[in-house]
Amino acid sequence: MKKVIRMPGKYIQGEGVIQDVGEYAKPLGTKPALVWGSHTRAAVAEPVLESLKNHEINEYFEIHFNGESSHEEIARLQEEAKSAGCDYVIGFGGGKALDSSRAMASRMGVRYMIVPTIASNDSPTSACAVYYNEEHECIGNEMFAFNPDVVLIDTGIIVKAPARYMAAGIGDALATWLEANSSYKNRGAVFAGGGSTMTAQMMSKLCFDTIMGYGKECIEAVKCNVVTAAVEKVVESTTLLSGIGWESGGLTCAHAVANSLPVLHETHDFLHGEKVSFGIIVQLMLDEDMTQEEIYRIVDFEIDMGLPVTFDDLGLKDQSLERMQKFGEHAVKNETYIQTMYFPVTASSMAGAMMAANSLGKRRKALKGIK
Ligand SMILES: [Zn+2]
Repeated sequence: MKKVIRMPGKYIQGEGVIQDVGEYAKPLGTKPALVWGSHTRAAVAEPVLESLKNHEINEYFEIHFNGESSHEEIARLQEEAKSAGCDYVIGFGGGKALDSSRAMASRMGVRYMIVPTIASNDSPTSACAVYYNEEHECIGNEMFAFNPDVVLIDTGIIVKAPARYMAAGIGDALATWLEANSSYKNRGAVFAGGGSTMTAQMMSKLCFDTIMGYGKECIEAVKCNVVTAAVEKVVESTTLLSGIGWESGGLTCAHAVANSLPVLHETHDFLHGEKVSFGIIVQLMLDEDMTQEEIYRIVDFEIDMGLPVTFDDLGLKDQSLERMQKFGEHAVKNETYIQTMYFPVTASSMAGAMMAANSLGKRRKALKGIK
């Protein structure tokens, strides 16, 4: 099988790099469409516009993002950028604003830069956009031909966001090697469009080791709104390494659980990375290649990050095996990535793993004296 890896053209990270937007935007075209919501605009417009001016990008067009990455919204953004004569796109903000910017640029066939202002998931470097309808329900995703030309992430901005976002990003990225590794054993095709490379596997492993090593210090620094070496290492892991890792390494059980959790409606308001965190424990319950020591280490780490490890943490009222059986049936019937595990997972093995994950989470929390 051919092997494929995909990645962004350029990745820039550091405290204060928002001031360099103009430098990296300049080669992309002549007139950028700046896509941002009002909250993001208030936070970054000043240094961004200053930087554009400093690099003689005097023509640009601002487009307000309305908050949902729906087909209607993306068509509107595209139309506005077209009538303003924009020939490239710079998207600022969180997942939905960035996905909409990615989708509009890809549909227009122009270059694009992605500037994340929170680090709650590992989608910025990818070529994938997740779509929602106007009722805010997820309706699927699309992989485009090209990844962003530039991803620029200012860690000084990332640490100003609530620590919960960083923790969710850590949860999402913690799954990357566990899933890339189990997908590789299956030798299946990954999102990149072929088999996984050694490079993607190595990046996934580096991501895992870095997060496990520096995650705690990173979260403490983010709580103080300061950038430290641990923050830089973890942000690079959750954004760049994990971004390449999932797209070119493969997703399996942890994401299958996360993407099926809407069936358990109480989890609706949880962040993607928080749902993935619980999915990781479910995967650990199924995977006979994991040692008990490794399992405890990962669950304890998630507890330290404040990530959900029990049904109570996820707000589940009905915690019965019958309900988990229905959950398992949904997860194995739909295209949720469970099919890419290196061994078959059935509805009942998934239900059992859900129950076991909750039990383990409770016991590990009790050992730490946490209810
Ligand atoms: Zn994810």
